[in-house]
Amino acid sequence: MQKQLANWGNYPAVTCDEQAFSQDDQLQAVVAQHDAIIARGNGRCYGDASLAVHSISTLKYDKVLDFDVQHGYLTCQSGITLDQVLEIIVPKGWFLPVTPGTKNITIGGAIASDVHGKNHHVDGAFSRHVTWVDVLTADGQTIRCSHTENTDLFWATCGGMGLTGVITVVKFDLKKIETAYIKQTQIKAKNLDEVIRLFEEYKHYTYSVAWIDCLQKGDAFGRSILIVGEHATTADLSPKQAEHPLQLPKKSQLTMPFNLPEFVLNTFTVKAFNWLYYGKNFKREITNVVPYEPFFYPLDAILHWNRGYGKSGFVQYQFVLPMDQQSGLVTILKRISDKGWGSFLAVLKVFGQQHDLISFPMEGYTLALDFPVRKGLFEFLDELDELVLQHKGRLYLSKDARMKQEIFWKSYPDAKRFQEIVQRYDPKGKFRSIQSDRLLLTKPQ
Ligand SMILES: Cc1cc2nc3c(=O)[nH]c(=O)nc-3n(C[C@H](O)[C@H](O)[C@H](O)COP(=O)(O)OP(=O)(O)OC[C@H]3O[C@@H](n4cnc5c(N)ncnc54)[C@H](O)[C@@H]3O)c2cc1C
Repeated sequence: MQKQLANWGNYPAVTCDEQAFSQDDQLQAVVAQHDAIIARGNGRCYGDASLAVHSISTLKYDKVLDFDVQHGYLTCQSGITLDQVLEIIVPKGWFLPVTPGTKNITIGGAIASDVHGKNHHVDGAFSRHVTWVDVLTADGQTIRCSHTENTDLFWATCGGMGLTGVITVVKFDLKKIETAYIKQTQIKAKNLDEVIRLFEEYKHYTYSVAWIDCLQKGDAFGRSILIVGEHATTADLSPKQAEHPLQLPKKSQLTMPFNLPEFVLNTFTVKAFNWLYYGKNFKREITNVVPYEPFFYPLDAILHWNRGYGKSGFVQYQFVLPMDQQSGLVTILKRISDKGWGSFLAVLKVFGQQHDLISFPMEGYTLALDFPVRKGLFEFLDELDELVLQHKGRLYLSKDARMKQEIFWKSYPDAKRFQEIVQRYDPKGKFRSIQSDRLLLTKPQ
């Protein structure tokens, strides 16, 4: 069915023929029938990675096939969302090994982007926890791959943005929890130097993230709140919480009803940040026990918050720089804050080591912030790309909607090897997206 599709950034919006499937034979038929096809999960990548002439929605292919409650393994179809998985595993005392900042993505999307969470420095990216993946490749065969079997296909599939084929069934491991709560500590940092020092000081925590106020200048440049946390034990809970330690948090009811002018979202985030920064008696450090939802998924509390950026949409700019390039972080953040076009808040996380084929993370710091689409924006982001490159960093494909192919090829050192593996499994380039054509990972038709 032809329809207008866009992912989370609402940019670009394109006309695609979208098909769905719930059975393996239906999937095989759709893949055999079409060229220029790409799998689409829940459309939570920001740009054009799951858009193509033909997209194939995995959302109805969402069954749990096996849940080993004793050892903590889940085997499921790729269209199930993290939200659906959490509803099944949390009451039984298990959690996702790695989760991004939204639970509204599919397991297929988690592998194809090789997503990272607030625990990358401890637990790595999602691929580290995958036992095996089945991939339907271009010739109609389903191939099982893993850390030890068909490893080239495995590493080209993790972070490979759907270009090796459609991920069908996945087995991955889970994290044991005693409660559905997080014991979190929020620490105020006066500026960027201090927050980097704090990341180092608090690196023994499993989870960490900092929200940076991009409006401050001078000594307060990079004023932030660092939030660190651990899964709470039953001993950490209040008597009320302890009545049902593994109870799922209540679902949010708020919805962004329609597209808003851009300033509305910024005013909202300014207020939220100031409330956190100046609230709670001005204490520098606050510890409390909260349900896992506000800790991991604060943005999911407002459904469709992306509409807050208005009709033209927005792009999220996320880059990573290696550990020894922190000066680049200052340069880039200053450039963004001087321009005044970015969102008020930026999210900073630390990554541990990762040397995979095409996944985004590398040991260092990653910064993400939103830019509403406007005249001149892409030229400005091209300038930032050059700075990222000068500092030996790279951009996250899952957030990208506009990067030039030269930047991609210079910043992903194993891109050629990745492309060779993709071509081996898909010599005619059946699986392709608007993004892969733009980056010349596939040949534009
Ligand atoms: C609010 C928000 C916060 C986020 N926070 C983070 C974060 O902290 N860390 C992080 O890493 N990411 C984050 N993301 C990005 C998101 O996790 C990824 O873009 C994820 O891949 C989206 O999954 P999806 O199911 O929506 O897939 P889509 O967005 O539809 O597709 C994403 C990619 O996966 C491919 N794909 C999807 N399903 C399959 C399949 N079955 N087989 C083969 N390929 C497939 C698509 O072709 C595409 O290349 C965030 C996104 C949002 C909106």
